[in-house]
Amino acid sequence: MIGRRFTLFTLFGFRVQADASWLIIAALITWSLAAGLFPLFYPDLTPVTYWAMGVAGAFGLFVSIVFHEMSHALVGRRYGVQFEGITLWIFGGIAEMTRDADKPRTEFLMAAAGPLASFLLAGLFYLAAAGLSLAGLAITVVGVLSYLAWLNLILGVFNLVPAYPLDGGRILRSALWYRRDDVVSATRIASAFGNGFGWLLIGLGIFSFIAGNFVGGIWWILIGAFIRFAAKASFRQFLAQRLLTGAEVRKMMNPNPSRIAPETPVSRFMEQYLYSRDGNVFPVGHDGHIDGIVDMDALKRLPRSQWDRRTVGEFTRQLTEDTSIAPDDDAARALQLFQKSRLSSLMVTRNGHVEGVLSIDDLERYLQKKTALESTERRGGGFGRSSGRMDETRA
Ligand SMILES: [Zn+2]
Repeated sequence: MIGRRFTLFTLFGFRVQADASWLIIAALITWSLAAGLFPLFYPDLTPVTYWAMGVAGAFGLFVSIVFHEMSHALVGRRYGVQFEGITLWIFGGIAEMTRDADKPRTEFLMAAAGPLASFLLAGLFYLAAAGLSLAGLAITVVGVLSYLAWLNLILGVFNLVPAYPLDGGRILRSALWYRRDDVVSATRIASAFGNGFGWLLIGLGIFSFIAGNFVGGIWWILIGAFIRFAAKASFRQFLAQRLLTGAEVRKMMNPNPSRIAPETPVSRFMEQYLYSRDGNVFPVGHDGHIDGIVDMDALKRLPRSQWDRRTVGEFTRQLTEDTSIAPDDDAARALQLFQKSRLSSLMVTRNGHVEGVLSIDDLERYLQKKTALESTERRGGGFGRSSGRMDETRA
């Protein structure tokens, strides 16, 4: 869903990135502040002043979102949850976790930190605006600060709606998880709330569109659709992580991957492997020895006229921690690596030797079998508490 990102800076060890869509939103917000909100509340200022206020307001929004997401990431790290970093995009910010919380308490603290941070900022901006206003300082500064106070208040309240994966939904999930001691059913219910809230926003959006508020209406429809999508995707991701935890990579890998000799011309490689079912990454080397990997997608960018003259060896990348995994590693870790590296295959290596290749399809096949097996067990009359409860919540 997120396209090209730019790394802005690193703060407390977390990389802060912006998706290209954030730039569009930042420009739209600057414009709507400069041309709409500020002239309405503070008339009789010059256009240049409104634009300066608009830029300051958009920058304040940026700081507020980073502060909110950073508080999730800092509290999470304190309790051992790993974060990739923070990304700003069209619907705000995301603190990207590589692993979920493993206790309801951690989930609660981590989720609550965001809205709390926003309320704290709202208070600070409000005090600053009130203080400066008393001191008789320029209305421009006071105007921007008041806007930021409101904005953070709204940000905190909106995120508290119990619609998973919004913060409030995560708080709901942690409470259910704590009470029932069943994380699957807790996540299922919380994501059903997310789905329902998404529909509610879509309904409100359609209503407001019909009532004549076209831009606002479309915006709410989009946010509603996104929350529905995110609720389902987060639940699927959670189930996948859970089913893959404790399963060894060796059980799913292909132990006899094709090895490509480095002197193979690119043209021959493409002919043989373009439609291969082994994914898009292949080990390069002779017999037992492996030089590295070659990524089909990287080769596709090479002009066809050069396919005969160049060899696979020229495009071979060394194996890194992000492209290889050990045979006795957890498959849940493999899933994280796939999401991080965006490759479709990982090399399974031990002491520098490739023992197999694991593709995303291998994981998928395993997940399908496991899911089918679990649902048969459920129908068969309940193996254990958690599976029995899963059905109750289906309705
Ligand atoms: Zn949040």
